[in-house]
Amino acid sequence: MIFPLKRYLKPISFLNVEIAKFGARRGISEISKTMRFHAGSDIYTFQDEPVLAIADGTIFECTHKFYYNVGSVAIKHKNSIIRYGELEPIAGLKVGDKVFEGQVIGYAKQIYKDEVTKMNVPVMIHLEEYTDENNKNTLSDLSKEGYQRGFARRIDLTDSTKLLKMLLGIK
Ligand SMILES: [Zn+2]
Repeated sequence: MIFPLKRYLKPISFLNVEIAKFGARRGISEISKTMRFHAGSDIYTFQDEPVLAIADGTIFECTHKFYYNVGSVAIKHKNSIIRYGELEPIAGLKVGDKVFEGQVIGYAKQIYKDEVTKMNVPVMIHLEEYTDENNKNTLSDLSKEGYQRGFARRIDLTDSTKLLKMLLGIK
């Protein structure tokens, strides 16, 4: 298995920047009126940096509309599903396609609400990990219950920090 980026900013954002960490507080949900938490780990990188599949797998989800102008790709790997968010998927990638470890699946893109009002956020990828236990449905859970659980994600969402540290070879 490999880390999903060859180049990223140091110090490593998901370990050092509070809002980049899994579980960071993200404000009160309009739907459930409960606290919403960050569902992934953010890795700050460079515009158009290639994003790599961390292992062999099958495309589970692929969208150009994940958050404002950026898309996401989810891959079903052997023991988990990884959603690679805030990127532009490569052209032609579709659900069911086989991908190999190290294959470029997309390019990191700056988020902005529109061409005029650019949001002042670093270029990053947002990585979510799911344990894939008895789940067939889509990864987001935008129901009231999903928000009440904190992440607006399905129940097998897990903390991706440990996996990313392992891929970087740090304890
Ligand atoms: Zn994020």
